[in-house]
This record gives sequence, C-alpha cells and structure tokens, in this order.
Amino acid sequence: MHKLKITRCLDNLSENKNIVYPQNTDEIKEVINYCNVNKCSFYPVSSGNNWGYGSSFPSDDETQIVMNLSKMPAVIKFDEEEGLLTFGPGLTQGKLYDFLKANNFKFMVPVTGAGPEGNIMGNALERGFGITPIHDHVASVRCLKAILPNGSTYESPFAQLGLSHLDKHHKWGVGANFDFIFFQSNFGVVYEMTIKLERTPDTIVMFTLSVSNKDIDECLLRLKTIKETYKEFLSGINLMNTRRMLAMKSNYLVEEQGYCSEDKIIKLKEKHRLEDWTVMGAIYGPKSIRFAVKQDIKKALKGIGSKKRFISSNNIIVNKSWLGKLFIDSEDLKKINEGFSILKGKPSRYPLNLIYSLSDIADEHKNYNPLKDNIGIIWFAPVIPFKVDILNKYITGIYKIFKRFNLEPMITLTIQNENIIASTIPILFEKTEKKDVDNAHDLYKCLLDFSLEIGAYPYRLPTIFQKEYLNKLNWEDTIAFKIKSKLDPNNILAPNRYSKS
Ligand SMILES: Cc1cc2nc3c(=O)[nH]c(=O)nc-3n(C[C@H](O)[C@H](O)[C@H](O)COP(=O)(O)OP(=O)(O)OC[C@H]3O[C@@H](n4cnc5c(N)ncnc54)[C@H](O)[C@@H]3O)c2cc1C
Repeated sequence: MHKLKITRCLDNLSENKNIVYPQNTDEIKEVINYCNVNKCSFYPVSSGNNWGYGSSFPSDDETQIVMNLSKMPAVIKFDEEEGLLTFGPGLTQGKLYDFLKANNFKFMVPVTGAGPEGNIMGNALERGFGITPIHDHVASVRCLKAILPNGSTYESPFAQLGLSHLDKHHKWGVGANFDFIFFQSNFGVVYEMTIKLERTPDTIVMFTLSVSNKDIDECLLRLKTIKETYKEFLSGINLMNTRRMLAMKSNYLVEEQGYCSEDKIIKLKEKHRLEDWTVMGAIYGPKSIRFAVKQDIKKALKGIGSKKRFISSNNIIVNKSWLGKLFIDSEDLKKINEGFSILKGKPSRYPLNLIYSLSDIADEHKNYNPLKDNIGIIWFAPVIPFKVDILNKYITGIYKIFKRFNLEPMITLTIQNENIIASTIPILFEKTEKKDVDNAHDLYKCLLDFSLEIGAYPYRLPTIFQKEYLNKLNWEDTIAFKIKSKLDPNNILAPNRYSKS
C-alpha cells in the first residue's frame, strides 16, 4: 500500500489516498479482510479513467483506500470461433486492440470516445456505450465473477453447476440471475467477465449529412424508422450540433471561456462549412444489406438536409481520387480515415480533442487525458424517449440553461434504437477557479431538475451528484438498500456509489 495524490475532473480536489494494486483474487480478499477487521472502506477501479464522472476518486470522501485493479489479468481466454472474450480488470481498449492484432483475430474492440486508456470492464460496469454495432456495452456481457464484501465469490448461474463454458455462451443461465446487480452499484469487486466481440467487417459505409434546425424534427422521425428497420446493421446514429462539431475541430472557445455568441457561431459555421446539425452513422453487414440500407436511407431522407455522403471504407482508403467527388480536403480525409478506424473497432485518441476547446495547449503537448492536463469536465448524459416533442423541449431548454450559466452547449444526440436517444454534453470549465467550478456544479443540478421535468434523466451520474438522485428515492425501501445491508454490513465497499451507504 502506498500514498498517491488522487484528483478528478469534476473539481480541483486533490487528496492523498492509499493505493493498492492487487494482482490476484487472494490479494483482493486480503484487502477486503483488512477493511472488515479495521472497519474502513475501499473504492475499487479497473483503470480509474472514469473522466467526467469521478475518475478514481472514491465516491465517499471518508474512503482512504483505492483498489486499482489495473495489474490484474487482461485477456484470460479468447474463443476465436465464437468471438467470446474472457478477461480481467487489467484489459484496456488499447491492450485489447494489440492482442487482437498480434494474433490476427479479426474482431472489433468495443470502442468509446475515451480512447486506448479506457478500460473494457470498468466501462461496462458503468454501463457505458460506444458506436460499434453492440454500442450498449452491457448488452455484450455474458457472465462474470466477483468477490463480495464478505470475501465469498459470486459466479453466474451455470458456472455454479460447474458449466462455466456454457455460461459464456448463454447470457442468462437458469433460475435467478444476479450478474447485473454489479453494474452501477457497490456489491462486489468484479475480477472476471466474458463478453461477445463482433467480427471486423471488411467494408463499412459511413454516411453523413447536414441538417438545418428547421428540418431536424423530420430528420429524426425518418431516422427512427430506418433504425427500427435495420437495427444492428446500423451503428448508433449521432446528430451533433454546430458547437459540438467545432469542439472536435478546434479550440474555438479560448477567448470566450464559456458561451459562444450566436454571431460568432454563424461565422464559424461558414468558415468550417457546417450546418446546425451534422448527422453521422455507419452501415454494417454484407454487401447486399449495405446496398439495401443505403438505398432506403437515401429514399427516406429525400428532401431533407444537404451534403449527403455515403463513403465506403474500401473507396476512401484505396482511391484518393474520391477527394474531388466528395468535396473534401486532405485534412478531412485524415479525419474520415480516423472515423473509419474507430467504426471498425480501433481505439483512437481523436475524440478526446473536444476536451481542449477552451485550452491553448498545443497539439504536441496534449496528453489526451483530462486529469493530466488539468481540465474540468462533467458529462451530462440523459436518455430521452424518442418522441419529437420531448426532444424539442430538451434542445430548447438546453440552449437556454447553458446560456444562462455562460457555458457552451455541445450537444450530441445518439439514436441508440427506435425508442431511445442518448444525449451527451461535456460541461467544460476552468477547474482551478472556484467560481467556475461552483457555476458548473450549479448548472449540472439545474440540468437534473430540468430533465426530470421533461421526462428524461441521465443514464449515469458523476459521483458528486449521485446524492441528488438518491435523495429523490425512499432509499430504505429500495432493493439495493436491502442487498447492500445484507452483503456488506460493515459498509466497506465503495460507500455512496449509487447508494446511500
Ligand atoms: C472525451 C471523453 C470521451 C468519452 N467518451 C465516452 C464514451 O464514448 N462512452 C463512455 O461510456 N464513456 C466515455 N467517456 C467517459 C469515461 O472516460 C469512460 O467511460 C471510461 O471508460 C471509464 O473509465 P475506465 O474505463 O477506466 O473505468 P474505471 O474508472 O476503472 O471504472 C468505472 C467505475 O466502475 C467501478 N468499477 C470499475 N471496475 C470495477 C471492478 N472491477 N469491480 C467493481 N467496480 C468496478 C468503479 O466505481 C469505477 O469508478 C469519455 C470521457 C471523455 C473525457
């Protein structure tokens, strides 16, 4: 155990905590035993890069021990016939990519915008999502193993019968299945998980279009039908407002350090050839399916938007003469190739550029890590019923509230399926200025109230705002409270993580 300074992107707090790096389950149990005997608590993380949600900073200020599981095993077993990957908390997106590449296994990493340092298990346990076909990362989980706060072991149902191979093939097993109580909770230390990986497609078709505010409702409705029809043959479809697109391209807020005026946005829109909204998605599947989906999207979006482009990964990489046809320059081409790599499951640091919109750090000095670069970021990530009237209220309200707090609304709407839109907005602020931190926190609380009013709510919460949600519940009546009291009577494991104890 040694002391290390722990920080987070949510504010400027920095504290020395005791860090332990167990390398096997016996060492995890030792820490659990120590905490039970000494009546103290610990906070387990896999990589601890939960940027914008709390990083590795414990959810309870009193917790002095951080259990960093990054030295636990990475890949444990890969069944390349089935695409079933069994792994430990040591597996990051970058390590998985290297493993697959070194063995010439043609499978995709379930990538997120957090880049190569993002952890596969940690992200799934937070119910994170990405953009490859299985974008909901919990959906790909088949089974897991965890150590409970009393030191005993949990395994998925078939494994308890000695059928641990069958467990990996079949998600639910037989009888009650408790695997999913370990997600966004504090009931155990997960040390092994099996997920299904998707094969890397030879070819994908990326599509983009530009849409003005006046057409956005109709565009959403038409994409809803398309997504409902073609499901997993389509990636999550992203709709990004101008401000979000600008954030990916440049540090356009260095002057403002906050809300950018409409006048300036109009000028930047022209300069970067952007519309109010940019739509981006990808078509997967065999050639005949790709063709059918492309034709249907074209038909469905007839009369909507401009700059409709369908770019096949084959064409763009092999044939640069497409440049002219697509009206793109070589900088755009680089980004398109980067986009294809991500869509084909190659982790990339490119999406991390957005955290630098307020900063003047030169590219060559960026660490692509908000903690190392001292950047304040809080993710507001509500899920919204796919109803145009609610989405309208959401977008209008977001602009109004962000402007009031003098912060920039960089909106992404991701069509996850025909029923739900997941929105993500990074709240970027100067975390060394107390007044800016307070302002960002007040904004987040205001957004929580606002989302409740319109019938939406975050699917995931930064640690410091989890109490806002818990205070709305009758905590002692919840099943989570009953399970926690039974499994962890000394309250040693991650107190306050999505919990009032
Ligand atoms: C620019 C940017 C883009 C981002 N894009 C995305 C995105 O596209 N999708 C997305 O989902 N997130 C995204 N994030 C948020 C976040 O950085 C990622 O979700 C990241 O993967 C989480 O950190 P981690 O993988 O290191 O998990 P960890 O920090 O290790 O784990 C997250 C939490 O899960 C719990 N936990 C972890 N491991 C265990 C375990 N073994 N046992 C018990 N509990 C455990 C802990 O409470 C921990 O705090 C983004 C962040 C930034 C700054």
